[in-house]
Amino acid sequence: MFDYSVFSKELEDLKSQGLYIYIRTLEGPQGSWLEIEGKKVLNLCSNNYLGFANEPRLKKAAIEAIEKWGVGPGAVRTIAGTLKIHEELEKALAEFKRVEAALFFQTGFITNQAVIPTIIGEGDAIFSDELNHASIIDGIRLTKAKRYIYKHCDIDDLKAKLEEASKENFRRKLIVTDGVFSMDGDLAPLPEIVELAEKYDAMVMVDDAHGEGVLGEAGRGIVDHFKLHGRVDIEVGTLSKAFGVVGGYVAGRKELIDYLKQRSRPFLFSTPLSPADTAASLEAVKILMESGERVERLWNNAKYFKEKMNELGFDTGHSETPITPVMLYDAKLATEFSKKLFEEGIFAQAIGYPTVPKGKARIRVMISAVHTKEDLDFAIEKFAKVGRELNVIK
Ligand SMILES: *Cc1c(COP(=O)(O)O)cnc(C)c1O
Repeated sequence: MFDYSVFSKELEDLKSQGLYIYIRTLEGPQGSWLEIEGKKVLNLCSNNYLGFANEPRLKKAAIEAIEKWGVGPGAVRTIAGTLKIHEELEKALAEFKRVEAALFFQTGFITNQAVIPTIIGEGDAIFSDELNHASIIDGIRLTKAKRYIYKHCDIDDLKAKLEEASKENFRRKLIVTDGVFSMDGDLAPLPEIVELAEKYDAMVMVDDAHGEGVLGEAGRGIVDHFKLHGRVDIEVGTLSKAFGVVGGYVAGRKELIDYLKQRSRPFLFSTPLSPADTAASLEAVKILMESGERVERLWNNAKYFKEKMNELGFDTGHSETPITPVMLYDAKLATEFSKKLFEEGIFAQAIGYPTVPKGKARIRVMISAVHTKEDLDFAIEKFAKVGRELNVIK
């Protein structure tokens, strides 16, 4: 018999270091308020930036899609064929991102695993920001390309690495970065990265999971924000954050998308999105193409919250987006802070290693467009109370 006590021991270790993750069970849908363990709490955790996860228009689209297309797609698209709404979603995503074509995958995580090892391999070089998302790191692990990890958002270090690589004769070079870094809310210096890429003849790939629905015109993302259309080769996105559903996608040139359809393994060997997910995602894109009003509300809420928190003396890092890290550094303090907030009616999870580096524990507050001013004031009041109790602020 396998000795399972090795796992129990590891779990005990995690608990003693304050790194054990407790998962809350919700008794209703995602929204600004949640019901957890019979208690009503204000939600400051989800990536549901625009409130789409429980938006009536998306729900209606999903229900109608189930009526029309059933619940499952049957098999992979190359074998069982693809639904017409699958193609409609891809067309809408391409239009939204202002590129030629798009292709969705089952999640954003899988999209990185699909794209990176398909376009990069032995004899190639990949340049990756040290704080890139786990799905990018795992995508890179699936390749035999030579890896250059550059310091976070450090253009000089990236340049030095490109210079170093130019002494070798690589077939292809790819620079890959998160657009918005999910734990700190800072932006990749994309204009400078693109300039370097052009100089050193490298492709650029940006993972815009926290940028779309947030940055650019009506949430078109970081490429639109910096007006870099046509100069970024590959945009990866997720349907699971601002779009409120589940899924991921890649957007770019038609040749790239066609090639991924022939060669990427999650496309060839894994069943695509269900009709309900597809139709709901399509509806989210349609709402954003109609109006940027929700995105505007998101930014107003985020600015208000951040200003008030800074006035109170909280350290909110160097976020440039609605992601608001409340820096506490110590993992145990962060866990304690989160627990006390919960008692006060606030759901805001502590985040520690390995999601963020050791010694950089925090509470990551996610502001959404559907929080009201009263919601935000309630949150600020409770943060102040717990912050004083735990001597984080005066
Ligand atoms: C959240 C996230 C993903 C994963 O997206 P899912 O759709 O949840 O799988 C990928 N990349 C980045 C940068 C992310 O923040």
